[in-house]
Amino acid sequence: MKAKITYRPNGQKTPNLFRNVLTDSVLKDICIRITNQEEYEVHIDNTSNGINKGRLVFVEYNDEKHYVTLSETKDDGRNSTLQSAPTVLNLFTADSSTKKTLNFYFLKHEGNLFTPYLQFGYKLLMTVGYKFINIECVENPNSAKFTDRKPFSSLDELINWRRITKKRNRSNNSSYITKTESAVQIYAKTYGASKYESTLFAISAFVLSDMPVELYTIVEGRLKNLPKSSLASIMHYKGMFPHAFEIHNTTLSFDRNKLDSEPDSIKLRAACYTYNLLSRIGPKKCALCGCEIPEIIQGAHIWPVADIKKSSLTDAEKFGHATSSHNGMWLCQNHHKLFDSNILFVDEDGHIKLTNNITDTNKIFIVSITKNDTLSKTLLSHEFKEYVKSRNQSLDLTKTQIIK
Ligand SMILES: [Zn+2]
Repeated sequence: MKAKITYRPNGQKTPNLFRNVLTDSVLKDICIRITNQEEYEVHIDNTSNGINKGRLVFVEYNDEKHYVTLSETKDDGRNSTLQSAPTVLNLFTADSSTKKTLNFYFLKHEGNLFTPYLQFGYKLLMTVGYKFINIECVENPNSAKFTDRKPFSSLDELINWRRITKKRNRSNNSSYITKTESAVQIYAKTYGASKYESTLFAISAFVLSDMPVELYTIVEGRLKNLPKSSLASIMHYKGMFPHAFEIHNTTLSFDRNKLDSEPDSIKLRAACYTYNLLSRIGPKKCALCGCEIPEIIQGAHIWPVADIKKSSLTDAEKFGHATSSHNGMWLCQNHHKLFDSNILFVDEDGHIKLTNNITDTNKIFIVSITKNDTLSKTLLSHEFKEYVKSRNQSLDLTKTQIIK
């Protein structure tokens, strides 16, 4: 029995791409790796409705369907190699047949296919069910080694890898994934390659966590939501992992009027604030002790929301201050409570101060859990200092001591 290999040359953005890369030897190699035999016949699907259906080769053998995503052959973007995989995942998910597999095939490629960013992407793909059928063929002595060739084993591992790869690439303005004490939160960009990464984050969160998943769609510039096929995939996985789940496929464009009309406006406001802090400061990490456990880290307002509400500003201005990325820092629950109770203070230079009105025992405890005596310089923007000034207006910092 011959395998049937189908592909759509007109489904690609680059003309003649498939004719050039899908040589007999490549097709034969795919056939052997998928079906363990080398006989195949090719069916070319010449329909051309809509491009960008993923770099998909479809192999049918023994009543089984095999979806094979092809890598890019040249570097034309940091993650173009991965871009097509979520599209094919969406097609795979929409296929109701039970005998099907999802595969990734590397074409011959120049350059490093194993940058930290790409390794992160491969692990994401493995987490959502991709099998890499020839990854060993593209490793070469000059490329970084992909030693940890397995799916993420937990959401914490995923978040930690994300933190590391983002540190190396600070300009990488993409989606965020984090946790609260009760939910996984995904702040999903909807443009370019980021929208596909958002889909992978959402599905990985279902696979790896029992916590409810909150998906917030970040819309910037021209309004756009996640692609319908991505949402359909996410809904499909929601069905497979039936714990509580929310899609806020709404614009977190941070328009107060729009938010007010949402049934969940308080929650969305909090989400805006979290998203802004993630964008400006980075992943959750307590500014006073360095704790990085996302479940117990919160956005702490510098100029408190209660004071903002009492001000004479317009509603739109109040909303802007309450959600501003400069009006806050990450604090663990202990430090947040100590800060909000005015036991700990910050001054405009970022020094951390302790109230004088405290017992020695409690002072010893607070000093022992507070690693830093000043805030990181990156926090101390002009706007941040203005918020500190507003906060401290009603407080008496002469009755404080420097924390040591
Ligand atoms: Zn802390």
